[in-house]
Order: sequence, then structure tokens, then C-alpha cells
Amino acid sequence: MNQFRHQTLRIAYLRDQRRWSFARIAKAMDMQIYAVRSRYHRHKIQEEKAEAAVLVGQDARRMCLMCRKDFDSQWPGERICKSCKMKPAYRSGSDFDTPAVWGR
Ligand SMILES: [Zn+2]
Repeated sequence: MNQFRHQTLRIAYLRDQRRWSFARIAKAMDMQIYAVRSRYHRHKIQEEKAEAAVLVGQDARRMCLMCRKDFDSQWPGERICKSCKMKPAYRSGSDFDTPAVWGR
């Protein structure tokens, strides 16, 4: 986790869980109040977006069925990442390492 994200999560924690004021957080973290406030709100917006995406089932992080890596899925049915779609195995219609004579 990088420094920026760590700081943002700490702001969100102090605000949501501990009910600190922005002024108190700003003082504790040696930051400007406006910076704390804008960072917090940006974090909230991203959180809401992520929750909305889960509800709709769109634009979500999904695990690719082929390489098992996380990728940004654009629509509910998308289960294969872009790089795997470029692979010959996918293009030939086979998800497995079957002999080339099959499925052609
Ligand atoms: Zn993949």
C-alpha cells in the first residue's frame, strides 16, 4: 500500500469510525483542513462508485477465467481479460491447451 492511499484510509477511518472533525484530523496528521476534507470526499465518492458497480454488476474487478488475474470487467458477462482475449487459445474457441487439431 502506498503512502497516499494509507493516509486516505486513515482519514476515512478517523472520520467514520472515530467521528473526528476534519479540523482534528488535519491537526493530528499535520495537513490542511481543506486537503483532509477533499481527500475524504474523493475517497467516499470512489467507495460509492465501487458499491454501485457491485450492485449493477458492471465495471467491477473480476478474476479472469483463463489467467486468474484481476481485471476491470466492462459488463456482467465479461469474464476473460483483454490480454487473454488476444491469446490464440481463446481465439480458437478453446479455453484449454487442447491439440491444435481440435476446435478448428
Ligand atoms: Zn486473463
